Amino acid sequence: MYVTKVSDRVYMLDTYALGEPRTVGAYLVKGPKPTLVDCGYATSFESVLKGLAEAGVMPSDVRYLIPTHVHLDHAGAAGRLLREMPNAEVIAHERGVPHLIDPTRLIESSTKVFGEAIMGLYGAPEPIPSERITPVGEESHLDLGDGLGITMMHTPGHAPHQISVLLDETKAMLTADAVGIVYPGMKALIPTTPPPSFNPAELVATIKSIRQAKPTELLVPHFGARDDVDWVFDRTTELVQRWVEQVKALWKRKMSLDDATAEMEKEVSKDAGTHELPIYAQISVRTSVMGIMHYLDKNF
Ligand SMILES: [Zn+2]
Repeated sequence: MYVTKVSDRVYMLDTYALGEPRTVGAYLVKGPKPTLVDCGYATSFESVLKGLAEAGVMPSDVRYLIPTHVHLDHAGAAGRLLREMPNAEVIAHERGVPHLIDPTRLIESSTKVFGEAIMGLYGAPEPIPSERITPVGEESHLDLGDGLGITMMHTPGHAPHQISVLLDETKAMLTADAVGIVYPGMKALIPTTPPPSFNPAELVATIKSIRQAKPTELLVPHFGARDDVDWVFDRTTELVQRWVEQVKALWKRKMSLDDATAEMEKEVSKDAGTHELPIYAQISVRTSVMGIMHYLDKNF
């Protein structure tokens, strides 16, 4: 099953990242102007198309494709999908747009972070023609017809060019990676603090600001709908700050990335009440530790 109906007009698409269910999601707002928010890795594009079909939307019906940020698990498939979606316009934060038009640097830096082998599994994003992209800034509104509207809000911290999307009708919020990873079936939350641009102060400020919109429900890319809004916000804020302090202590001791990752995996395992974390959770922890170390290298 590729699709879960989240509410009257919102569907969650499972992109089956690297074949793994329930790790990377995208969201479809189905109205007169069907809108897809995020779209998974480049190699997930077929899962996205299957999801759209299950939700009863033809690729040619899609009117807007909104990658919340340019990271490969959110925007990787965008260029490939656009070839199937002749009527779709891309909307992205202005600071992310250059990477969508020319992903060369993004591919280079992602290869540095993940290595050639994993990059091969994620797939390289295809360039998107600039005339198909509309940039947005701090906050903008989009009318999707039939009483449906969305507000796109700039939510830096995880990445400087990230946006989150609030559904005006229901106040459900498509958070993007402004909140931590909450895999279903795993009790722990994992902060999403990847290289190269994670900034803890901005992330904490972002949570404060999106809280003011009083979302009723959080639609999280990793992974699923959450009605425990306060818990997710509180826990993200608390853990981002705590992880920075903990990794800083390890970083000062010049601990290697592998050893620091093992330390932080222990923390997550304790929270989750399990001994062995699934592989995708291990990768998430490693990427977050790497992002914090990168931030520390740059700033201290
Ligand atoms: Zn992500």
